Amino acid sequence: MKDIAPDVWQLGGGFPPNGINMFVIGDVLIDAATRHAGRRIFRELDGRDINAHALTHVHPDHQGASHEVCERLGVPYWAPEGDADAAEQPELIAERQPDHPVAQFFARTMSGPAHPVDRALKEGDEVAGFTVLEAPGHSRGHIAYWRESDGVLILGDVLNNMDVITGIPGLREPKRFLTPDPLENRRSAKRLGELEPKIVLFGHGAPLRDGRKMAEFTRALPD
Ligand SMILES: [Zn+2]
Repeated sequence: MKDIAPDVWQLGGGFPPNGINMFVIGDVLIDAATRHAGRRIFRELDGRDINAHALTHVHPDHQGASHEVCERLGVPYWAPEGDADAAEQPELIAERQPDHPVAQFFARTMSGPAHPVDRALKEGDEVAGFTVLEAPGHSRGHIAYWRESDGVLILGDVLNNMDVITGIPGLREPKRFLTPDPLENRRSAKRLGELEPKIVLFGHGAPLRDGRKMAEFTRALPD
């Protein structure tokens, strides 16, 4: 695991690096990649004390190994309120994605089994010193985790810091064919950009440590 900020770590071991990201904040694992990621997750956690597993959103490359993590570690499953039904009925994931072959292929090959949600996260909730902010659009219930004291933002897929198909680095909006409501997602991105986060952690792409860059990017997006 890589140190990102106090009490914030990024799991390594993925290929390509930063392709599909997971983080630990305090004793909470954020996201669980695809259903093939179990080995990587347990190797990276290396016996570390994890007491809950939470998601940014219920998509196949974020909830894939969630059931395995919660079962093996015996920890509660925390999912965004607006996505909690999809966490418990993963067939809703494909149903809510755009009807595009790549989206449907990802849903078929990456999504993991259902697991009961123990806590539905909503705006203002606290998770390991971070505040939950609702940021819908890329999924119905998408949330971000924000720690105002030092400006750390776990953004999920509201923006990507790499092209998820080619792997080319750079800040961008998520692919439209993987985003049910791109305009709502853009409004969420603009709202979060106004926080002027100092460290931005993405579902896809390397951490961004240039404080102004995300705000500049989201301000430049059309309304
Ligand atoms: Zn993703």
